[in-house]
Amino acid sequence: MTTIKATCPMCGDVDLTPAQVRLTVAAAAGWATYTFKCVSCHDLIEKAADDEVVALLSSAGVLVDNVPGEVLESHPGKPISYDDVLDLALWLESHDVIVPHLVMH
Ligand SMILES: [Zn+2]
Repeated sequence: MTTIKATCPMCGDVDLTPAQVRLTVAAAAGWATYTFKCVSCHDLIEKAADDEVVALLSSAGVLVDNVPGEVLESHPGKPISYDDVLDLALWLESHDVIVPHLVMH
């Protein structure tokens, strides 16, 4: 079985299995991290992972969580509220043909 050596800031080097490590890659933003729960002090440790660490952990069998690019998009403006949804429902009730209203002029 593959053993992954990681370093806990409090306990020093610890041995982990691939299942005990979680790798998160946000390729669109250019960052990656890996996390593990220290087997000694049980703290959750998160560290940055460069391309070499990502490749090593992946090849060792650590599952990769890919962060979709959409998550990192900025969305200016206020979130849609319950009133916005209600207004849309009322508007839809009074309009039989909606396509012309959706097309930009
Ligand atoms: Zn520890």
